[in-house]
Amino acid sequence: MSAPHDARPISIIGAGLAGTLLATLLAQRGWRVEVFERRGDPRRHGYAGGRSINLALAERGLHALRQAGADPGVMRQAVMMRGRMVHPLVGAPELQRYGRDDSEVIWSISRAELNIVLIEAAEAAGAVLHFDRRLESVDFDARTMRVCGDGYDQTRPFHTLVGADGAGSALRTQMSRHGDLGERIEWLDHGYKELEIPPGQGGGFRIEANALHIWPRGHYMCIALPNDERTFTVTLFMPHAGAHPSFETVRDGAAARSLFEQQFADAVPLIPMLEQDYDRNPVGTLGTLYLDRWHLDSRAVLLGDAAHAMVPFHGQGMNCAFEDCVALADHLQSAPDIASAYAAFAAQRMPDAAAIQHMALENYLEMRDRVDNHDYRLQRALELQLQERHPGRFIPHYTMVSFMRIPYSLALSRSEIQRAILVRATAGLDRLDQVDLAAVDADVLARLPPLADTP
Ligand SMILES: Cc1cc2nc3c(=O)[nH]c(=O)nc-3n(C[C@H](O)[C@H](O)[C@H](O)COP(=O)(O)OP(=O)(O)OC[C@H]3O[C@@H](n4cnc5c(N)ncnc54)[C@H](O)[C@@H]3O)c2cc1C
Repeated sequence: MSAPHDARPISIIGAGLAGTLLATLLAQRGWRVEVFERRGDPRRHGYAGGRSINLALAERGLHALRQAGADPGVMRQAVMMRGRMVHPLVGAPELQRYGRDDSEVIWSISRAELNIVLIEAAEAAGAVLHFDRRLESVDFDARTMRVCGDGYDQTRPFHTLVGADGAGSALRTQMSRHGDLGERIEWLDHGYKELEIPPGQGGGFRIEANALHIWPRGHYMCIALPNDERTFTVTLFMPHAGAHPSFETVRDGAAARSLFEQQFADAVPLIPMLEQDYDRNPVGTLGTLYLDRWHLDSRAVLLGDAAHAMVPFHGQGMNCAFEDCVALADHLQSAPDIASAYAAFAAQRMPDAAAIQHMALENYLEMRDRVDNHDYRLQRALELQLQERHPGRFIPHYTMVSFMRIPYSLALSRSEIQRAILVRATAGLDRLDQVDLAAVDADVLARLPPLADTP
């Protein structure tokens, strides 16, 4: 399919996750879309993504994929994750469900496969993708951009630019040279390293497939997400420096083996290449990117990680980026002009991006330190009970973020009230039957309006 000659032109920088989904949505709505991607075409050269081999897809992202008609291709390769399989230091692993049943689950998907499905969807919708084409610089006054790569170096005119070029966005750098975007990056003092659990002898998964495995250990943790080829990608998160263990004290594969033998003993037989993986794979950095402005009148706008990169602990960076794509496509469709569409998009999405950035940081503490604590389990049990007692009013935090599409900012404000209720109701108690339910019910009714009535 190709766009009509009089279609409105738009140039997207980055054919990663957000760039390709946005290209699909806009091409389907009749825009003339061109996409410039600095890497080679992954269908020809293999995927050179370089980080987080798999990702958790939740309702927000899935809904956006449905809008583009790309969900069947993605879901064919997805592995269901019903909950967290928590591996304590001592004792057997235990599944903590994310939702009430299998209608409330998240999905593990391969970044490479997802990207390829979306590249094909964008092309099928009529977008033109240019690989090995890196945005180098932009002259916003002349409305031209310099694009380079693989022996190519050209200055090309553009009508309007969308930056879907990730956390290190070149378009953002160019925009901030033109005018201050109020950029601030807060680096996390923890990093990550990826390892692999291969398939078992018979070719199947070595541990429970339908779960996100967590080994919480206080100031550090391991997680493992299943892949459809029966492997798991294990990610070790710990501080870059400081007290043992940190990436400073666990310098090589041999030191990693000794850490795993002491702290993640049940994972050791699952990772036969532990030393090699540890020595070969880089330590990834994590941070949160804050901007005061996402757009430059009608000339450029940022979305996804380019606008609001976040730490990965809520598994929402891509989901949020996909929601951005739907929101931007809708504003471009309904606003009288591009500048108003960009302004309306930023006004709508900035508070929500800030909310999920905050919740993602908070969730690191929950995952690495709280999921196997007694007080956390008691609060979680009460949370599920209150969900039954007050449907539509008390909705667990994880449910609001992962299984619903209410604005992240609303999920955050309601979660904060709910957490205060849970903490107060369970303080000093050992068991659920000791909770004063009449007092908690009164608290819920007084402080939480039904969700449908919330503005
Ligand atoms: C360890 C880790 C785990 C994660 N887990 C999850 C998860 O479970 N769930 C979830 O929802 N999110 C997760 N995320 C977040 C998710 O990866 C990002 O939010 C998502 O990739 C953002 O998509 P994007 O399209 O904005 O950026 P990207 O996916 O980074 O794509 C940017 C694209 O732009 C291209 N590009 C860059 N510079 C240029 C240039 N100058 N010119 C042209 N092209 C350029 C890049 O090559 C790339 O293809 C995780 C992140 C990390 C680091």
